[in-house]
Amino acid sequence: MLRRSALAAFVITVVLAGQSFAQSSKARNIIIFMGDGTGVSSLNAASIYGYNKPQSLYIQSFPGVALADTSTATQWVTDGGAGATAIATGVKTNNGVLSESSSAIKDQQDGEILKTLFEYAREHGLSTGAISNDDRQGVTNALTAAFFAHNNNRGKSGEIFEEMITPRNGGAGLDVAYSGGRKDVLRQVSAMGKDGAADLKSHGYVFVDSLDALKSIDANQTKVVMLNDDTDMPIKPAVDDAIARLSKNPKGFVLVVFSDCHTGKATTSLRRIVEMDNVVREVADAHKQDTMILWTADHSYDLRIKGEALTETLKKNEGKKITAAVSLEDEHTSEEVPVMAIGPGSDRVHGFISNTDVFHILMAAPGWQETTKHAAGGAQ
Ligand SMILES: [Zn+2]
Repeated sequence: MLRRSALAAFVITVVLAGQSFAQSSKARNIIIFMGDGTGVSSLNAASIYGYNKPQSLYIQSFPGVALADTSTATQWVTDGGAGATAIATGVKTNNGVLSESSSAIKDQQDGEILKTLFEYAREHGLSTGAISNDDRQGVTNALTAAFFAHNNNRGKSGEIFEEMITPRNGGAGLDVAYSGGRKDVLRQVSAMGKDGAADLKSHGYVFVDSLDALKSIDANQTKVVMLNDDTDMPIKPAVDDAIARLSKNPKGFVLVVFSDCHTGKATTSLRRIVEMDNVVREVADAHKQDTMILWTADHSYDLRIKGEALTETLKKNEGKKITAAVSLEDEHTSEEVPVMAIGPGSDRVHGFISNTDVFHILMAAPGWQETTKHAAGGAQ
């Protein structure tokens, strides 16, 4: 009996060791998909909108699933600035602020500079990129900007754009950045007495104004910025081009992709979730072996499917009419948002967590050590 149980223990040990080996493989790349406002209710509605049934989005099949609290350092309901800062730095701050501590006051006073995931990535020799379909602030929108800029006002697109080229915390700028918002962003840069196009050129970037123009840029050119005036920029061609260029770095890359899925128009918001979900499917098929792919949101908002109308719609098998049954009050809300992940490190995504834990999960995926202290923070 003793011998048999010893053998059993040995077998169990070997099996467990094998499992932990499989789970401890490190991510080479990280791709973060930020769906603005994509809380549980948005994902549910998007699945019904896109597929006429719940839980049919690709991300809803991910092995790593958690629910993240989104409160800020001082408020229960977050904006994109504090929400993205928590994910990009592991620290809760105040609404309106980008990657500065909670001593920052919006547009009045700086806080401590918080080290971002992109800054860690550069230290480790990785490339970085950002994509956004925001049609006003573009890549300087808070959801992407928190990864590379430190500003006490998320609205300062001009300053944020300059930080993208010459980071306030030192080091190199972003490698690739593709977004809408061309006119507004460049106007804000020139309001500072600067020339965005000239600044890009002097730092070695190729700067173009359309997704089509990316195709004509040499594949070995790895510093590229594209700003266009598209009010509904498709994510897929931007993601494909960015991954191709960022992949030239043998050490890997970190890419953040933002889609505005909280537009005030239910059909646009839900369609964009379905579209980005399809992009995630293709990216995961090609890269999940060595890439942690994570989708989360800065906050949820008050979009709900309610009432008998839904039953009527489903009976008629007219799923696209689902938006007739959607209640949209459009305010940000405080409840947890889903975090879904696949690829190396996704086994750490589970349970009820804080939005700041998303940062720690991302840092752990490639095995990076955090070199600055992170206050627990939060209005708990
Ligand atoms: Zn938002």
